[in-house]
Amino acid sequence: MDNFSKVLSGKAVADTVLEYVKSTTDRLVRQGIKPGLAVVIVGEDPASQVYVRSKGKKAEECGFLSIKHELAEQTSESQLLSLIASLNEDSTVHGILVQLPLPKHINADKVVQSISPDKDVDGFHYVNVGKLGTGAVAQAFVPCTPAGSMVLIEKVLGPDLSGLDAVVIGRSNIVGKPMANLLLAANATVTIAHSKTKNLRSVCRRADIIVAAVGRPRMVKSDWIKPGALIIDVGINRIVSDPDVGSKSRLVGDVDFDDALNTVGTITPVPGGVGPMTIAMLMANTLKAACLANGLPQPAF
Ligand code: NAD
Repeated sequence: MDNFSKVLSGKAVADTVLEYVKSTTDRLVRQGIKPGLAVVIVGEDPASQVYVRSKGKKAEECGFLSIKHELAEQTSESQLLSLIASLNEDSTVHGILVQLPLPKHINADKVVQSISPDKDVDGFHYVNVGKLGTGAVAQAFVPCTPAGSMVLIEKVLGPDLSGLDAVVIGRSNIVGKPMANLLLAANATVTIAHSKTKNLRSVCRRADIIVAAVGRPRMVKSDWIKPGALIIDVGINRIVSDPDVGSKSRLVGDVDFDDALNTVGTITPVPGGVGPMTIAMLMANTLKAACLANGLPQPAF
């Protein structure tokens, strides 16, 4: 296999997910149901502003009702909680997303847990975490980044990972832990590695699938990888290429892509890998919420 065909474009797979979301939404709209996504942002964090804008734009492209609540930095926790209570009650809103991080005076966990589990399209509510953790994947809203990573894994290996060893590097609630639960539900034998893991290289080396979600640029090298393994690189790290020659900063993953390419079976690039899948799965989760709220069968991706 040439190296070019080893690269799995998340962008291309995300486009097919979005096409499906759009065509299903068209059908729903003809039945009088318009999926609605409300995005709430507090404060002026520039990166968060960019994320919220792109989520709103994508929701519009999908044919959703797209609602944005931009609140001032000094908004109180109780004001935010009452906005969420009103969105929970609003039947035109099927998905609610609160952009994190929130300002320090607001308890983010309290806010996230106040979202109705039925509208929790980020999949962070304990009810959805519990459903995923008990293997009730179809009933859960699964966090978008691991959900998107799982779609990519299924593209390469199919839905049943019986007999395969998977290593997830990172144990965050947003990526690592839900990722491990999805792999387990697909019958993989799963190891979760983290900052306290000893001999990470040899732990990774036995894996048929590595999902790297660490936040350390190019940490995973080719000699950590079993020949032919599938590598899903979740990491997004901004590095300054070469300050001496004044080159601009750029994004790299947690895997040393150029070094790994000769060893891997398949690898996702950064950018253009897991990133586009994350936003596509947010749209998929919103569509799912709209279907379930209206007693319709949930869409299959
Ligand atoms: P996090 O900081 O919450 O978690 C990082 C994890 O990495 C921790 O569990 C920690 O134990 C582990 N870790 C840290 N150093 C390690 C080391 N030396 N060896 C092994 N494990 C180590 O981060 P997160 O929110 O899970 O995100 C991880 C990465 O994924 C970041 O680069 C983030 O930007 C990226 N991310 C990408 C997307 C996307 O859409 N592509 C979405 C979310 C996060």
